[in-house]
Amino acid sequence: MASTEPSPRIAVVGSYNVGLTMVVPRFPTPGETVLGDSFAEGPGGKGSNQAIGVARLGGEATFVGQVGDDSYADDAFALWDREGVDATHVTRNPETHTGVGFVIVSEDGENEITVAPGANDALDAAAIDAASSEFAGVDALLCQLEVGDEPIEAAVRTASAAGADVVLNPAPARELPAAVLERVDYLTPNQNEARLMLGLDPDADRDDESVAADLRALGVDTVVMTRGAAGALVVTDGGIEAVDSFDVDVVDTTGAGDSFNAALAVALSEGLPIGRATRFACAAGALATTAAEVIPGLPDRETVAALVGE
Ligand code: ADP
Repeated sequence: MASTEPSPRIAVVGSYNVGLTMVVPRFPTPGETVLGDSFAEGPGGKGSNQAIGVARLGGEATFVGQVGDDSYADDAFALWDREGVDATHVTRNPETHTGVGFVIVSEDGENEITVAPGANDALDAAAIDAASSEFAGVDALLCQLEVGDEPIEAAVRTASAAGADVVLNPAPARELPAAVLERVDYLTPNQNEARLMLGLDPDADRDDESVAADLRALGVDTVVMTRGAAGALVVTDGGIEAVDSFDVDVVDTTGAGDSFNAALAVALSEGLPIGRATRFACAAGALATTAAEVIPGLPDRETVAALVGE
C-alpha cells in the first residue's frame, strides 16, 4: 500500500442519521428510567460513517443517500464537505425528515441503538439510477442495511456489472433476496447479524464456522465475520482463516463495525489479499473503540498503518 498508488474509488450507498448519544451507568430495564452522565448530538448513520471512514483512510469516497430538507441535512452536507466525501448524489427529500438515531452507551463501552429512518427509507432505485454513472469507475461498492432492499439491489446490480468489488455489511441484519446475495463478493456480518440473516436466534448455539458456511451457501462469495474483541473470521472457497484483533484500551465500541468495513473496502480496492485486508480492517475497528462516539473514533491512514506494523 505505497502512498504513490492512486487512491481507490469507493461508492458507499446507505444511510445518514443524526445520532443523539447518552452515556449511562447501565442500560435501563423496560419501564425504568436511568439518569445519563452526559449527552451529545452528532452525525451518524452507517452509510455516512463508512464513507467518512473511507475518506480518512485515503480512499476517494462518494456517498449515495437521501436526507430531509431540514437543518440536519445542512449539517450533513457541511460535514461531508469537511471530510472530503463527494455528496453530489445525496438528495434532499422535502416529504420527510432526515434520519434520527438514539444511541445509549454504557460505562463499560457497550451500546444500544434505535433509529427513525425518515429519508433513508425513501431512497429508491431511481436515486441509484441517477447516480449510475458514478458506479462505472469505482473499485468497490460498500452497502449496509439501514436502507431498503430496492436501492441495495439496484446498486449491487450496477456495481457488480461494472466489475467493482461488492462489500455488503448486513447491519442491521435482515434476510435478503437472492438477487442481492449472489452479487455480493464480501459479506461482513458481526456474530449476531450472521445468525439473524439465517433466521436463527442471535444466541443460537452454533459455531461461527458453520454459520459462515451456511451464509456462503446463500450465494455470497466470501464471508468476513467480525467477532468484537476476538477479531474476525474469513471464510472463502479456499478455507477458513481466523484473524486476531488488536489489544487496545476500549472506551466505546460504537462504530467499530463502520471503521472495520471502511478499512476493508479500502484495503481490498488497493489489491490486498483478503487475509491482509481483514487484518488492516481489524486494526481500524480496534482503533474506533478507543474514542467516544463514532466519527471522532474513525482513524486516519497513518494510525492504522502504525498499529498494523507493530
Ligand atoms: P460491530 O461494531 O458491527 O458489532 P464488532 O463488534 O464485531 O462489530 O467489531 C468490528 C471489529 O472491530 C472487530 O472485528 C474487531 O476487529 C474490532 N473490535 C471490536 N471490538 C473490539 C475490542 N474490544 N478490541 C479490539 N478490537 C475490537
